[in-house]
Amino acid sequence: MALKKYKDYIVVFLFFGIPFFVESFIFFSDINWQYSYVPEARSTVKILELVITLFSFCVSYIYLSEFRKYFFVAWIFLFYMPMLLNLSAFRITGTLITDSFMQAIFNTDFSEAIACLKAHIMFIIVNVIILVSALFYKVKVRKNKRYGLYGVALFIFAFSMSEFFPIFKIVLESSRYFKDISAYKFYNEKHVPLTNIKISNNSKQVYVLVIGESVDRNHMGIYGYKRQTTPYFSAMKSNLFAFNNVEAVYSFTSEAVKAIFTLNINGYNHYTLINFFKDAGFKTFWFSNQGKSHVFENEVAHLGKSSDYFYSINNGNIGKQDKYDISLVDLLKNALKDKAQKKFIVLHMMGSHFPLWYRYPNKFAKFSSDKRMAKADSVTYTNSLYDDSILYTDYVLNEVIKELRKEGCISWMLYLSDHGQEIKSEEDCVWGSRKGRGTYEIPFVIWVSDEYRRKNGEFIARWNLSKAYLSDKTAYSLIDLARMKHDSVDSSKSIFYGDITDQ
Ligand SMILES: [Zn+2]
Repeated sequence: MALKKYKDYIVVFLFFGIPFFVESFIFFSDINWQYSYVPEARSTVKILELVITLFSFCVSYIYLSEFRKYFFVAWIFLFYMPMLLNLSAFRITGTLITDSFMQAIFNTDFSEAIACLKAHIMFIIVNVIILVSALFYKVKVRKNKRYGLYGVALFIFAFSMSEFFPIFKIVLESSRYFKDISAYKFYNEKHVPLTNIKISNNSKQVYVLVIGESVDRNHMGIYGYKRQTTPYFSAMKSNLFAFNNVEAVYSFTSEAVKAIFTLNINGYNHYTLINFFKDAGFKTFWFSNQGKSHVFENEVAHLGKSSDYFYSINNGNIGKQDKYDISLVDLLKNALKDKAQKKFIVLHMMGSHFPLWYRYPNKFAKFSSDKRMAKADSVTYTNSLYDDSILYTDYVLNEVIKELRKEGCISWMLYLSDHGQEIKSEEDCVWGSRKGRGTYEIPFVIWVSDEYRRKNGEFIARWNLSKAYLSDKTAYSLIDLARMKHDSVDSSKSIFYGDITDQ
């Protein structure tokens, strides 16, 4: 009897109280908080999490037994879940929901999502317990107008605190993202070719742009890292130029790659490098080891598909082992056999994308050695896996250069990473987070053929390898590097511009 009387309180305690205590425990302890290098962010998130749980606790305590079922469900979907998403964004990126974050959500695939969930497992478990419990607990429905008023009051309260009611933000940022996608479609379908592109010569030219993944240049031997992770690059005495002051603007692949490929022409921001090379008479190729477009169309795939040839060797298994990056070199070889005089080839690597042990064959496990395939639970071990992946990338890039050398023509390869990565914990390996300099400090390495060097000696002599530069202007540099010009392209945005002792 007595038990029945207290049933509601027991249920409230089991379903909401326990998770609340768990959250409180996490809040007051320092376990498993891996975004700890931004202390302010940590305390903000902790406070937000506590507020959520406290709030759900209070709501359930006060209303649960007589709560109106529909309102309760609506509260969960309109308020509680969006807030969780907002907090997840904060945990992963250090900012609340942005269009880039929504883009990452829309562009993910099942395996990447699983990898991300694994890294945030504590957070997820606690909140799933709360949510599932709430949905499964049979709420009594009693008709009483008073509860409708409570509902309205709660809604107004939630609405007035916009950061605590992010559903509108989600809708807004998602719509921005889809607007962007349609701009790409529009441009690729209605592309008006640029005329009057000035081309310095019409002999055989092969230019290769390699987009790396999540590589922090501070982990590369050629940039002075304590481990020799780039033996091939470091052995190339001449014809290799490592710019040491280039930073990425975004920390998500899709946003970062888009920034690399777009340029502003006549006020229109969606002009792409692919279209420029096409208009200049190049045959364009895009080979990718990143997933094809997923549930929602992916902007990077849009860019790739605007090339004359697009092929992805990855079946969308970002979080699993699929193909190693060396397979891109096989595709490159085929493209080099093409009869076209002028070619522009993009290779989009999987590089150092989490999970790292899927990114390279066993024999490249130099730094992680025998502990390979063990769970990466220590920072040192994760760093070693990361360094192995860079060692492998160095090997793949050397194979690219070997193929280009065989061509014996005017040629270059530019390698840069979409963004960097902070490796201070396992959690960092998912969805590159904007936490420290490693996230932005990317490699920007150019190899040129002897033929190119001979023809452009003066141009190369002017390069300033320490020039501060942002990767969202890369398109301008590539046009310059291919020795092309157009009146509408602002050549002062090229990395090779400026530090000239003018002659
Ligand atoms: Zn990336």
